[in-house]
Amino acid sequence: QDAARLPRRIQLYQAGRDDDHRRRIALIRDLRHAAEHGEFRLLYQPKIHVATGRLVAAEALIRWQHPTYGMISPAEFIPLAEQSGATRGVTRWVIREAVRRMRSWRLAGLDIGLSVNISALDLDDPDLVGFVGRSLEAEGIEGGRLTLEVTESAIMTDPDRSRAVLEGLRRSGVTISVDDFGTGYSSLAHLKRLPVQELKIDQSFIRDLSAASEDAVIVRSTIGMSHNLGLSVVAEGVESEEILTLLGSWGCDVAQGYAIARPMDAADFERWAGHRMAAAREQAAAADLTR
Ligand code: C2E
Ligand code: MG
Ligand code: MG
Ligand code: MG
Repeated sequence: QDAARLPRRIQLYQAGRDDDHRRRIALIRDLRHAAEHGEFRLLYQPKIHVATGRLVAAEALIRWQHPTYGMISPAEFIPLAEQSGATRGVTRWVIREAVRRMRSWRLAGLDIGLSVNISALDLDDPDLVGFVGRSLEAEGIEGGRLTLEVTESAIMTDPDRSRAVLEGLRRSGVTISVDDFGTGYSSLAHLKRLPVQELKIDQSFIRDLSAASEDAVIVRSTIGMSHNLGLSVVAEGVESEEILTLLGSWGCDVAQGYAIARPMDAADFERWAGHRMAAAREQAAAADLTR
């Protein structure tokens, strides 16, 4: 009521907060119908085998095309979904879409595995395992083609509960990947007791990586220990060729990042993958000739 007497700076700040608040309320309201209105879409980012450069899989990353606010990043709306009980609907849309995409790509000759991100709250969904199984079956896709990425902190919130869900997923052949590894407080020893097969080193350790940095010590030892435990290692956030080379020299299995490709819509991804695979075939043919 005394707003008129406040210094101008504070009034602007208040107005900004009101706008943020209004936006948050609107997004939470609209999130419930976004899937049925066809406002979600998936982008696909390649995961490549570091040693050979071959395309091995892709990560599906959700975007929300909001009718008035435009493109909304998952970093903004996934937390809102979690606060408002809309997580399950989002996750189910993503899983269905990714599995359908694998089928249509397979029919078009692009036979590739996809990983999708799930939320901490999905581990509370008693029918997650059933839903994943039914989705795979509906499209005739083997569980081994699907990877679910769960953040380290989500898994470690309640490791016993996580174990039950993850073991159920494993029985469908689904690969479990620990996302953003290194940002939580767990150790690899803890993770080893869970049915996980892949570990993604968080991009904060990768982005400014150089041979002599502290990050290098962390990354190299994580790769070494992961391999000793039988886990495959993915580096995310690879933004330069130098970093990719460094990771290769340390035996990192898979890499993902802007230096390789940005997340792309399905059509762009198909083109990118086509070029990549043609280049790999040419390389193999050239190697044959020189033998
Ligand atoms: P994430 O799973 O760790 O995904 C990696 C994020 O880093 C993605 O951001 C990706 O676009 C971005 N990225 C990839 N390469 C680079 C790089 O070289 N440099 C930089 N700076 N960034 C890179 P995005 O798509 O905005 O997603 C952010 C987060 O939102 C994801 O982190 C994931 O936690 C969550 N998310 C995305 N899609 C979904 C989804 O379908 N469901 C759920 N539950 N969460 C999702
Ligand atoms: Mg991820
Ligand atoms: Mg990550
Ligand atoms: Mg992340």
